[in-house]
Amino acid sequence: MFLNAPNLIDHLMSGVRVALGSLALSLPITTLAALSAQAIEINVSPTSPRLGDTITLLITSEADTAPIVSAGDRDYPSFPVGPGRYRAMIPTTPLQTPGTRSFSVTDDLGDRASLNVSVRDRDFPIQQIWLSPEINAIEGTDYEFDRVDAFRAEVTPDRLWTGSFIAPSNGWISTPYGVRRYYNGEWADDYYHRGLDYAAAAGSPVYAAADGIVGLVDYEANGFEIHGNTIGLNHGQGVTTVYLHLSEIYVREGDRVQAGDTIGTVGSTGISTGPHLHWGFFVHGEAVDPSDWQSQGIK
Ligand SMILES: [Zn+2]
Repeated sequence: MFLNAPNLIDHLMSGVRVALGSLALSLPITTLAALSAQAIEINVSPTSPRLGDTITLLITSEADTAPIVSAGDRDYPSFPVGPGRYRAMIPTTPLQTPGTRSFSVTDDLGDRASLNVSVRDRDFPIQQIWLSPEINAIEGTDYEFDRVDAFRAEVTPDRLWTGSFIAPSNGWISTPYGVRRYYNGEWADDYYHRGLDYAAAAGSPVYAAADGIVGLVDYEANGFEIHGNTIGLNHGQGVTTVYLHLSEIYVREGDRVQAGDTIGTVGSTGISTGPHLHWGFFVHGEAVDPSDWQSQGIK
């Protein structure tokens, strides 16, 4: 993470107040002192993210409503975490190009601050997958993709999770996050493994990874050809998790669940070569690496 000096100068010349906070590592103290009005301050973590990480911006603003973060062609909301303090989360994925990401934060007082974050590349494992012609021909249904897309787009204001996310299965991780693939010898351009696979016995429990509301339940029999029997949990503030290829489902849409609740069982429904749980973790609709959320990281 570093401050973009030309941007800073632009802001100064145009009279826009710029808050530096802890970002202005390389600027002389006298320059800092001149910027007495710190309208917006931004702290970023992790300070040196890699593709797949969730970038968290902690924003200090005098505004009463939560500032908006613009990143490229998308806007992201922030949510209050204390008086005058807000948090925004921005997903990164293996399909993006590593390098500088520019964020600009605007509040309803008209204050604005920018920062650049350098996102590092990461080597994701590459797999060769060979499918029978019949399996390879299964493309999934519009019904399932539309329902999953709509669910992942949900952004509700209350944060329902507390602390770290727990493992959704007692199984071992058979495919990690971010794996890229050749299918039948052909590079899958838009593919990356959008979650973690847990290999576990058919019928073994699947747990809610954190508190949330059941936002999606659907079945292979209804047209979930690829996903199989599926649960989606909405944890609030743009954070959702999905549980695929299930055998049994014990919850219904609208149910409130707590971390550790058994919500279903491991199966092999949909496109699956054996009993396993595919667990996906989404921030504002993009599948991010859950590991920061499972360890100390983002609470
Ligand atoms: Zn998977």
